[in-house]
Amino acid sequence: MTAPPKSATVLVVEDETSIASAVAARLRSEGYRAEVAHDGPSGVARCEALEPDLVVLDLMLPGFDGLEVCRRIQQRRPVPVLMLTAKDSETDKIVGLGVGADDYVTKPFSARELVARVGAILRRVERGGAEPPARIAIGALDIDRESRRVQRDGHEIHLTPTEFDLLAALAARPERVFTRQELLSEVWGVSGRNR
Ligand code: CA
Repeated sequence: MTAPPKSATVLVVEDETSIASAVAARLRSEGYRAEVAHDGPSGVARCEALEPDLVVLDLMLPGFDGLEVCRRIQQRRPVPVLMLTAKDSETDKIVGLGVGADDYVTKPFSARELVARVGAILRRVERGGAEPPARIAIGALDIDRESRRVQRDGHEIHLTPTEFDLLAALAARPERVFTRQELLSEVWGVSGRNR
C-alpha cells in the first residue's frame, strides 16, 4: 500500500459512534490525524476550526444532513469529501444532485476499505487539485466534461473551448465567488506568481 500524504488531517462526521471511532482509529493507525464530530452543526464548526485535508461525511445526521454540511463547508473553503450512504439507491440520488462529494462509500464498509479510499482521494488532490465530476447537471444545463458537450433543456449548445472551460470551472463549484486571478489560473492556466 502507498503511504498516506504526510500528516493529513481527516474529519469524520458520523453520528454512529462505533463507526466513527472505528474509522478514526484506523486512520490514526495509518498515520493520519483524525477528529470526530457527531452531528451536522458540530461537523461544520469542527471543519471551520480544523481546516482538514478531507472530510468523511455521513449522509444521515442529526441537526442537518450531510448534504447541508457539504454545502456549508464547501462555501467557505473547498475540501475533498467522502460521503457515507446507507444504500446504493441513496448514492445514485445524491450523485444526480451534483452535491460535490469526491467519492461515496455505501454501508456497511470495512474501516480498511474506507481508509484506502481516503488515501486515493488525497493522492489525487495532491497530484492536481480535486477533480470535479465528469458530468455536472446544474439548473437546465447538463455539462459533460469528458465529451466537452453542453446541453440546455436537452438541446446542445455550441461553446468555444475557453467558454466551455469557464462554464465548467464555475459550474463545478456553484455559489462560490471566484476572483479574476483564480479564473485566470483555473481556465487559462496562468500562474499567480508571474503576474
Ligand atoms: Ca447516520
